[in-house]
Amino acid sequence: MNVPNPANEGLSAYGASDTVLVLNSGSSSVKYQLVNPAGGEPVAVGNVERIGEEEGVITHKFAGITTKRRQPVKDHTEALEIVLALFAEVGPDLDRAHVVGVGHRVVQGADVFSKPTLIDDEVQAKILELAPLAPLHNPAHVQGMEVARRLLPGVPHVAVFDSAFFATLPEAAYTYALKKDVAKKYAIRRYGAHGTSHQYVSGKVARVLGRDLSQLNQIVLHLGNGASITAVKGGVAVETSMGLTPLEGLVMGTRTGDIDPAVVFHLARNAGMSIDEIDHLFNKESGIKGLSGENDFRELHRLIEEGNEDAKLALDVYIHRLRKYIGAYHAILGRVDVIVFTAGVGENDDIVRARVIADLEPMGVAIDPERNLERSKEPRIISRDWTSTHVMVVPTNEELAIARQVVALIADK
Ligand code: ADP
Repeated sequence: MNVPNPANEGLSAYGASDTVLVLNSGSSSVKYQLVNPAGGEPVAVGNVERIGEEEGVITHKFAGITTKRRQPVKDHTEALEIVLALFAEVGPDLDRAHVVGVGHRVVQGADVFSKPTLIDDEVQAKILELAPLAPLHNPAHVQGMEVARRLLPGVPHVAVFDSAFFATLPEAAYTYALKKDVAKKYAIRRYGAHGTSHQYVSGKVARVLGRDLSQLNQIVLHLGNGASITAVKGGVAVETSMGLTPLEGLVMGTRTGDIDPAVVFHLARNAGMSIDEIDHLFNKESGIKGLSGENDFRELHRLIEEGNEDAKLALDVYIHRLRKYIGAYHAILGRVDVIVFTAGVGENDDIVRARVIADLEPMGVAIDPERNLERSKEPRIISRDWTSTHVMVVPTNEELAIARQVVALIADK
């Protein structure tokens, strides 16, 4: 099978100075990057936070200068107006930045959207229809689209779905063993998330190794505040840890990951908690934070060094879950060519990497301690030379991946 490598797609059709504006609209924030898809570097980066609160916070970085403002930001319309005014005021001038398209990150495309899609009113309406599956995200994305399309009408707007990479999951991997008609009626199945990152990183691995993507079996560990693991066979996702929502799977900064669903019944019956309270508990108050009080791994290691037992257990639970998944994905893939770490923890935390890969020599995997300690922004191999499975660190870049998918789609039209 010929698998296109997303790291290369669509680039030849565009000029070296062309840019894409990538927008990530959340419920109370808008993050943006003006990206040069050919070179890969961000031209400008910023975000508007605390939309709708008393005081919004706006940060815009361009040409080494950070502009920071605090002012009320009523809604997403005002947020984008402020962003466009900042581009005009401190640069870069969007009229001269060769903006060829706007890419909108969308968390949930469910089984409706399996590839980047040109946005029109109908597409927007469909994304909104999927809101029950992503109530915090999809409505905010659509708000962002509406405003951006109005304020930047001259260029195509493209939705890039975080779930799209998982359209290839086999039925046996995405089906929950839940009563069939209930699952069907409420669209309950595993959809996955972080797909843009998993796809970008697995494509990058092939390029760095100079190998054909279609020949590589990979296990990709996206370990940020949210965390997920994906088995990628020949460039195609065959299993992933996130499910109907990003709550399933690995232990995360503030999320439980896998937990017996009967805990929900137990808390409802015995602690009198409401569904919303349990939702909040599982998503915001659990994970590493719930076990140790901190969700940043730098703080977690500091606590462990001080002898904090809760922090030590939190890390033990985190590592144990990861190793369990790696074993499971080994069984799914049969042969594993590469295990790759990415995102904030995966790229920076040598302790986590060393512990996840410890004692796996019988499986042909071993980390080189010196390579593991090396700090770099470049993709790199950190395993020993004799191993049959490479271990790599590959920085993710979701904005660049989105920008490249936007130019690929436009080039195709
Ligand atoms: P998000 O899921 O919010 O996109 P990121 O991928 O940016 O998250 O990862 C953020 C997390 O990465 C932080 O919460 C922190 O735990 C971790 N992190 C960042 N830098 C380091 C570091 N130098 N060492 C260990 N962990 C780090």
